[in-house]
Amino acid sequence: MSDVAGADLSPDAVRAEVAQWIENNWDPELPLARWRELLAGSGWACPTWPADWCGRSLTPELGRIVTTELKRAVVPGPPEGIGMMLVAPVLLEYGSDELKQRFIRRTVTGEVTWCQLFSEPGAGSDLAGLQARATRDGDGWLLTGQKVWSTGAATADFGLLLGRTDWDVPKHQGITAFVLPMRQPGVQVRPLRQMNGHSSFNEVFFDAARIPGEYVIGEPGAGWLVARTTLAHERRLATFPALPTTATGRAWREAIAERTAAAEPHKWYPQRAGRPDLVIPQAQALGRSHDPVVRQEVARLIELAWSARWLADRTAAARAAGQRPGAEGSLGKLASSRIARQAARVHSLIAGAAGMLAGPEALLGGTIAEIGVSVPGISIAGGTDEIQRTIIAERILGLPREPDVSAGVPFREVRAG
Ligand SMILES: Cc1cc2nc3c(=O)[nH]c(=O)nc-3n(C[C@H](O)[C@H](O)[C@H](O)COP(=O)(O)OP(=O)(O)OC[C@H]3O[C@@H](n4cnc5c(N)ncnc54)[C@H](O)[C@@H]3O)c2cc1C
Repeated sequence: MSDVAGADLSPDAVRAEVAQWIENNWDPELPLARWRELLAGSGWACPTWPADWCGRSLTPELGRIVTTELKRAVVPGPPEGIGMMLVAPVLLEYGSDELKQRFIRRTVTGEVTWCQLFSEPGAGSDLAGLQARATRDGDGWLLTGQKVWSTGAATADFGLLLGRTDWDVPKHQGITAFVLPMRQPGVQVRPLRQMNGHSSFNEVFFDAARIPGEYVIGEPGAGWLVARTTLAHERRLATFPALPTTATGRAWREAIAERTAAAEPHKWYPQRAGRPDLVIPQAQALGRSHDPVVRQEVARLIELAWSARWLADRTAAARAAGQRPGAEGSLGKLASSRIARQAARVHSLIAGAAGMLAGPEALLGGTIAEIGVSVPGISIAGGTDEIQRTIIAERILGLPREPDVSAGVPFREVRAG
């Protein structure tokens, strides 16, 4: 790796350096794992991360230049998904050096995969009311309880888990964040079937599942801080970028296979977002584009989509200026829900009763019907619309906080679940 601190960090110099590095190292016939090792070692994999952990400590602006250059050269980057989006940033911020050593590079290379084990049957919006119990056992911990809605848990190697470790302090103070090894006898994963026919989520049951002592993230009892950071990252709602159409060679074949498997639980997510891109083509195809009511509703959708785009630009500018993700993520998430619902409304207005028919012979191969039964998910995942409104009211508008009857009360005495 080059001496980052002493390097010329002008945009042109960074662009030239990454292009030269790709020129020297990229071979489409490399195994994907070998290519990702090279990428991680060079620091170009995650250029804004610290130089010791697969990055180069570059500013977000320079990081974007690197990403653009990697894309322009049509080379695979690190794996998409929860490991890179949520777990690694959280480990970088709160994990011990030992945890980072064990997991950062293996996440960047795709050797390990992750799921998020936060929600429980009685603790979704009230996440701090969680009751999965982790008790000390020698050097490590034993975990008993249940999680639910755990996307991708059926295939993940590790889980980012919140467990209750102290019942005698107020609810936010008795939570600890852990890395949980998923492939062990004490962990049982049962897939759930959704109303749109997909099966992304799972129930996960723990019966004396073992967690090594060194797999605590941050301090025992400080898990709520980890949870809040994770959720702020999650509300950025990252999506899987499109795969290049010109990719060839072994590394890409393996990257595409990996992506197809990783994206399986998310393949209905475009429909969950309401498919606003299909609204005008559908109105034209079905002869409804001159209907004044349809036109009015399409205009309303475009209005929402454009203001959300400007909001996202503003958030990106704040991030580029070095701000951490915060309450503004709630504005973006709420905007996505409103766009999705309006898009679904316009689709059903255009399609009429035919929009309810599912299956390959239905409108757009059943996509319009799938939109209708997938859109509700976006108002729930990562914190419901009502919870986003509370965050906006309290942290952005400065309105009085929601009363919390459990404040200061030991969790043992709180009615939870
Ligand atoms: C697509 C999708 C993917 C998901 N993936 C994961 C995952 O990988 N890992 C994970 O841990 N979880 C995951 N979840 C779970 C998600 O985080 C929870 O569903 C969400 O936080 C809501 O919790 P709940 O379902 O228990 O609803 P509840 O909290 O029971 O809420 C029920 C209703 O009451 C309302 N409500 C609750 N409290 C308040 C309040 N104080 N004020 C106003 N209204 C309130 C809610 O808005 C909602 O309408 C996923 C969910 C979805 C839909």
